[in-house]
Amino acid sequence: MLPTPVYNFSAGPAVLPDAVLRTAQNEMLDYNGTGFPVMSMSHRSDVFMSILHHAEQDLRTLLDIPDNYKILFLQGGASSQFNMVVMNFANGFKRVDSVVTGNWSSVAHKQMGKLSDAEIHLAADGKALDYLDLPPENTWDIDRHSAFVHFASNETVNGLQYGELPRPGADMPPLVCDMSSDILSRRINVRDFGVIYAGAQKNIGPAGATVVIIREDLLERCSERVPDVWNYQTHINRQGMHNTPATYPIYIAGLVFRWLLAQGGVAQIETVNALKAAKLYNAIDSSGGFYINNIRPGARSKMNVVFGTQSPDLDQRFVQEADAAGLKLLQGYKSVGGMRASIYNAMPLQGVEALVGFMQDFQRRYG
Ligand SMILES: *Cc1c(COP(=O)(O)O)cnc(C)c1O
Repeated sequence: MLPTPVYNFSAGPAVLPDAVLRTAQNEMLDYNGTGFPVMSMSHRSDVFMSILHHAEQDLRTLLDIPDNYKILFLQGGASSQFNMVVMNFANGFKRVDSVVTGNWSSVAHKQMGKLSDAEIHLAADGKALDYLDLPPENTWDIDRHSAFVHFASNETVNGLQYGELPRPGADMPPLVCDMSSDILSRRINVRDFGVIYAGAQKNIGPAGATVVIIREDLLERCSERVPDVWNYQTHINRQGMHNTPATYPIYIAGLVFRWLLAQGGVAQIETVNALKAAKLYNAIDSSGGFYINNIRPGARSKMNVVFGTQSPDLDQRFVQEADAAGLKLLQGYKSVGGMRASIYNAMPLQGVEALVGFMQDFQRRYG
């Protein structure tokens, strides 16, 4: 037993609920009396098909996903989706609109142009705002004939999040959203989106599975020229079994979905997440300038809280001492520096309270 609880603030692969890990541990060698580990059973077995089916159904319930949306659990991570959305949905289009708000949407912007006949048009760039605020939807330069509009709901590295999600106007192209780091953290209206995708390792499960939610009518754009492994229509035609899916990550994701339902679903976790974020930002804002976060309050992420002191040396000391106190992996992203506390769904309120307590103590000693 460790003397004090350990809290993991990793940005990803991130903390998973203890209860989920315990269930996985109990079922590790013998899943549900089958005599097999989930890791070692055929993905086409009835047992695994049922795991996949239930994961999908529970995700549908949690996000209230309408029947005209398909759900896939693919491999390749969120990064693979930067290209898959273009290969499948920009086919025959001249332009894709792309909104850049920080690190990940910027990577997406650059990658989307590769092997693409369509122009990837920079519809808005948060650079002019030093990535401390988000360009509002009404400033996006959108062409209604574009294949789609790509953006990220939460910038994991920069700590920015669209508090109010963009809503497509009637003659707007479909919204394609990278929700890797805030999916299932709050209620959303899936009907506002053409495609939602998310790598699992932030808020869903272990790395290896990528959730893609696709509005059915967009599948008409998929061309047979797109190789099967990159082709959404192929994956859907074969019920997610075109090639071997990431069976174990999907199983864990299913346990996380069940855990979320038991917590009261997304509406309940949204309330807890708001409380966690408020406590942490309040600790920063009430520190008299000892801790700094310069992001406009309305654009602050409730998932990734980026902060620092005035001094990189002090930041380093903070990270080291926090680690010794059981508050793990608080160092900021390499290009940003400072600290980053990722407080995804599985981070309990007590973890945030422990961090706030440590911040106050650290400031008393070094402030
Ligand atoms: C982590 C992350 C990615 C990259 O995910 P991979 O699964 O490593 O490809 C993309 N977008 C966002 C918003 C992320 O947080």
